[in-house]
Amino acid sequence: MIDADDERWMREAIRVATEEGAGPEATPIGAVLVLNGKLVASGRNRTDDWNDATAHAEMVTYREAAKTAEAPEFDGATLYSTLQPCGMCTMATIWTKVRRIVFGAGRDDVHRMYFEDRNLDTMDFVKDAYRHDLVIEGGCLRTECARLYFQPDDDVPDELQTNL
Ligand SMILES: [Zn+2]
Repeated sequence: MIDADDERWMREAIRVATEEGAGPEATPIGAVLVLNGKLVASGRNRTDDWNDATAHAEMVTYREAAKTAEAPEFDGATLYSTLQPCGMCTMATIWTKVRRIVFGAGRDDVHRMYFEDRNLDTMDFVKDAYRHDLVIEGGCLRTECARLYFQPDDDVPDELQTNL
């Protein structure tokens, strides 16, 4: 169940996402990692800044968290992401031992350019994971998060579509 604390952390994820621009051209995707009610790390999409296709907000957050904690796993933590994590980030989350993924906008709320697969939904990655203790919940501040991105019916030029 998404509660007021979740919304508070999602607001922080939105703040991180938009600190260098809020239009969809700025790819304002943000993530925060929270353990025992405390922020462990946060990050925003850095693929262009770092010339690194893997520098999604969630990956940036995990790398920062690992540096701070000097540990690769965050047992019991919650990951907040303004957008449903892609396959790479969902798999990374499975490996980090994070217990809960909370996202804002989901696949159906935004343009398809944000996802790598036509049919496979990353919710299924979690459903099929060996881990039984991982939950994923979407729709936390859905409207606020979705408005950061290209909309499902937007005519996005091919050169801006990162999944083509
Ligand atoms: Zn990702």
